[in-house]
Amino acid sequence: MKKEAEPCCSFCGRKKRETQILISGIEGHICENCVTQAQQIIDEELFQKHKKFQFSLPNSVKPKDIKKFLDQYVIGQDEAKKYISVAVYNHYKRLNQSKTDEVEIEKSNILMVGQTGTGKTLLARSIAKFLNVPFTIVDATVFTEAGYVGEDVESILSRLLQVCNYDVTAAQHGIIYIDEMDKIARKGDNPSITRDVSGEGVQQAMLKLLEGTEVLVPPQGGRKHPEQKMVKLDTSNILFICGGAFEGIDRIIASRMNQSKVGFKKNTEKDKVDDTNMLQYISPTDLRTFGLIPELIGRVPVTVHLDPLDITALKAILTEPKNALLKQYKKIFKADGINLKFDEDAIDFIVEKAMELKLGARGLRSICEAIMNDAMFEMPSQPEKKEFLITHDFVEEKFEKSNINRLKVA
Ligand code: ADP
Repeated sequence: MKKEAEPCCSFCGRKKRETQILISGIEGHICENCVTQAQQIIDEELFQKHKKFQFSLPNSVKPKDIKKFLDQYVIGQDEAKKYISVAVYNHYKRLNQSKTDEVEIEKSNILMVGQTGTGKTLLARSIAKFLNVPFTIVDATVFTEAGYVGEDVESILSRLLQVCNYDVTAAQHGIIYIDEMDKIARKGDNPSITRDVSGEGVQQAMLKLLEGTEVLVPPQGGRKHPEQKMVKLDTSNILFICGGAFEGIDRIIASRMNQSKVGFKKNTEKDKVDDTNMLQYISPTDLRTFGLIPELIGRVPVTVHLDPLDITALKAILTEPKNALLKQYKKIFKADGINLKFDEDAIDFIVEKAMELKLGARGLRSICEAIMNDAMFEMPSQPEKKEFLITHDFVEEKFEKSNINRLKVA
């Protein structure tokens, strides 16, 4: 009589005695290992399927609605908000344009120029909240020209791939904020004297990403190495928003404007220059003088400036946005059952000191931390206290005690 063959797993081929459990089906069998593996595949597939990015905006959303959303988080900076709202709106239009159409909407990458702490990153973050495309923030200072210590420029795209779980289609429709763009400006006027590792070379390397080509990306970021499997990504539909303080560019703008005035003797109201905020007159020529190469400037055609923050703006920032600092402290105290209140002149004191620090809204946070720290340390251990009023005297005393004045920018 013929001996019956030993049952085995129809997926991995292991014999019954080599498995712990072998489940029988109509046509075959499956072992415990293959069940686990199959479950993992199902989980991954389902995750990808349900985590869908949307490449279109609802029809009802217009640029004005995007700006209205930004208004909840970002104080002032109306011009920048308008430009960004339009750019993002058009970004979606471009994503949905027909490939056969003769007129092709090209992307308009954006460059935001503004002093530190005026809301550049906040704008980028807030827009990300609004959108349903992959978004990431990278810092231009970590990149160097290929062959030098540092990260390859392509790893900008690795970050985008990572945030969308390596979904290439999603990444190809994303938005990237590149911070500290000014730090890769060419140092000095003559590019040929010494090799400018972190400057011009990086700008050159960035060109192809910004304009839109197929790039081989190291999925884990960092440096490319031969064994690493590369992912091919087309950057044509990725919107790049760049930002930087471009310190000293106000003098470049002023000098250009002075020169261009020579020979003209018009003194109309329109010609009057507001020299407290030279950034509003920024032009591509100034960026070039600052050290950005013309090809790069050409690929970031929309330049917007952010205004310096005055006392009124700083006060509003402290109290008004959805996520305002004072609202955050109130929430922290409320969690311990304490009703936290601020006197108006205490708020004024904080704002004045932040103005003196010249760190934009960043100064507000440092000052508030210095002022509130003792109270945040003591109050949770005093359950009988149900209310805490921050007065001008309290704020002044804590401020004097702190070392915060050291932060002052000369
Ligand atoms: P930067 O322009 O240097 O990128 P950030 O956007 O990082 O400045 O701002 C630093 C902090 O200051 C932010 O976390 C934000 O809370 C606050 N801030 C700056 N500008 C504004 C603004 N215009 N409106 C509201 N908050 C602001």
